[in-house]
Amino acid sequence: MIQFLSQLVQAQSTLDKGEVAASQVISDYFGRHGVPCSIDTWDTTRANCVVHVRSSGRKKALLFACHHDVVPPGDSDWRYPPFSGLIDAGKVHGRGSTDMKGGTAAAATAICEIVAEGVPLEGDVVFAATAGEETDSCGVRRFVEAKADLPHFAGVIVPEPTGFEIVSAHRGLLWLNIVTKGKTAHGSTPHLGINAISSMKQVLDLLAEFSIEAEPHPRLGSCSMSINTIEAGKALNVIPDRCTLGIDIRTLPGQAHQAIIDRLEAMLVKLDERHAEFEASISIIRSVGGIETDTEHEFVRAFCAAVDIKETRAVGYTTDAPFLTPLGAPILIFGPGEGSMCHQPDESIAISAVERAVAYYKKIIIEFLT
Ligand SMILES: [Zn+2]
Repeated sequence: MIQFLSQLVQAQSTLDKGEVAASQVISDYFGRHGVPCSIDTWDTTRANCVVHVRSSGRKKALLFACHHDVVPPGDSDWRYPPFSGLIDAGKVHGRGSTDMKGGTAAAATAICEIVAEGVPLEGDVVFAATAGEETDSCGVRRFVEAKADLPHFAGVIVPEPTGFEIVSAHRGLLWLNIVTKGKTAHGSTPHLGINAISSMKQVLDLLAEFSIEAEPHPRLGSCSMSINTIEAGKALNVIPDRCTLGIDIRTLPGQAHQAIIDRLEAMLVKLDERHAEFEASISIIRSVGGIETDTEHEFVRAFCAAVDIKETRAVGYTTDAPFLTPLGAPILIFGPGEGSMCHQPDESIAISAVERAVAYYKKIIIEFLT
């Protein structure tokens, strides 16, 4: 399994390279264990791979929903090359080892071992490694669109690195750009142009007073909003005709993202009415809802009992889990590796954690499917 994880890291499934090579590594691994795996490829470089182990069908199925894309290694120097997949000092090193190829390898291994041991299954087990979680979640959306081909699930496990805490709730995110448009002119004659930065200042003044109305969540706290990027201006002697603001909003489960956008639109309309020269628009960069699985649900209680962990946790970050809600099954996030390692230079995962995950996933399969 550790060689498999190392090869998965070497597959270098960043946005520019895509997930075809990683899907092939996973498919080959299942293939070596006699478990058929299908690869769904689109747009040349994008790929999902799906395994469906069939059973007597007396019980509802389980889904292990992984993503096999990774973020780029960044500009920092790495101790080991980021896509070496080097195995050293009890760890597998490289981009994606923690987020989330460790969990992916563990889920695949657990399924292969269950099949090899001839455990009679009464419910199907489905494994999916989907594309683009770090960017636009295109893979999980494509997977869920084909849900007519999928069985009914008792529950969904997302093997993201939670340090073996059971995560049952997380916030959503809404990333927006606001663009103000102006008219360019020579820097020495600003009265002949419309300065998009000056227009943006008016937006910023109103945003300083803008708050998102939402009752704080008992476990997730409040929603948050932060202006994290601003871009404008080409040269010191040119009046800028475009200014782009990037806003990062973190929402609570069930919160309507469109309502937030509508209020921001209304704010821009107000500025437009006040100033003849004002022109601005909003675009959605990313919108992912929050998630909250009922902790009293029988799946959650049985899951907690199976892995002998009493409490579930709520976290601030986002996963692909909200895109899985159309499957109509409770979702838990539970996997090896520490969240603090995600997207960092020198990313690595302890082999012992991946091995522990295999044991947990096998227990869960046996608990629910036999
Ligand atoms: Zn991840």
